[in-house]
Amino acid sequence: MSKVLIVDDATGNIKILQQALIDDAKIIFATSGKRALELASSEKPDLILLDIIMPEMDGYEVCKTLKNDNETKNIPVIFITAMDEVKDETKGLGMGAIDYITKPFSRAVVQARVRNHLDYKRQKDMLEQLCSIDGLTEIPNRRSFDQRLEQELRRNLRTKTPLSLVIMDVDHFKPYNDNYGHAEGDRCLKKVALALSGSLERSGDFVARYGGEEFAAIFPDTGVEGLHKMSEKMRAAIVSENIPHAHSKTEKFVTMSVGGITIDPTNSSSPDKLIEAADKNLYNAKESGRNRCSLSEYKPPQEGAE
Ligand code: GH3
Ligand code: MG
Ligand code: MG
Repeated sequence: MSKVLIVDDATGNIKILQQALIDDAKIIFATSGKRALELASSEKPDLILLDIIMPEMDGYEVCKTLKNDNETKNIPVIFITAMDEVKDETKGLGMGAIDYITKPFSRAVVQARVRNHLDYKRQKDMLEQLCSIDGLTEIPNRRSFDQRLEQELRRNLRTKTPLSLVIMDVDHFKPYNDNYGHAEGDRCLKKVALALSGSLERSGDFVARYGGEEFAAIFPDTGVEGLHKMSEKMRAAIVSENIPHAHSKTEKFVTMSVGGITIDPTNSSSPDKLIEAADKNLYNAKESGRNRCSLSEYKPPQEGAE
């Protein structure tokens, strides 16, 4: 069921709206701008009904803050307000609100508009979901990996905890394809993806198909020790699948090499630089015999020493 956040300093108004919308959504509410912002980021509502005139922080301010934060900017906002002049409405819509309803409102109109916006939000979420999943392996794709990495790097700066990043590549996959055929290659990649997703432990851990026979994982709040544990666990998970590979120069079964880094929040860098560093370790793992992990703490390049 969709979740709607109602924000109004008058609890009477909240009650009326709640009654109107109770059949269509789970209702949460806030009576101040500050509380509204907290709930928007912790509860991730599908829609926010926002009053404008409120003490301390007004609705415009709340809307501006929501739209400036990557985590909340995509939550649709509808202003519900007694400010009924064209210039007020123009201002509200100009700030990124999707709709503007003036008080006193008709219950039926509010219901209908909210239904339409929730419908639209559901379709948008579904599309978003489809665009973020890899068609073959059905795990997240490169696009969602890139989004997640940016998001986790921002969070990591706020929480000041380390973050670990891993890039993995199936060993000798070209001869696997050449000898067993592309369809068998596809089946192998599906098994690898399933084994990797099955290795994750915490709800924040994330693994994606990065491209071809490459996979990538993010481990939030995870330092060197955790990186070692999780990388080794994923490498071993592929070995445990015991997928025969008579043409591998490493083993008689499919194996995978792993490159990983731990990023100290004070030494963080751009996503490109971090992936490059993990990739370098992956290359080392390949060079030193494959079916192994090469891991390190990320050191940002010295200024002027590129
Ligand atoms: P290395 O151990 O150095 O990683 O060698 P490799 O043979 O795995 O590396 P290479 O990059 O030469 O080969 C990757 C192969 O992966 C070639 C490509 O045809 C195959 N591949 C990439 N994407 C897919 C896919 O979606 N399905 C199948 N079946 N094969 C794929
Ligand atoms: Mg490979
Ligand atoms: Mg490759």
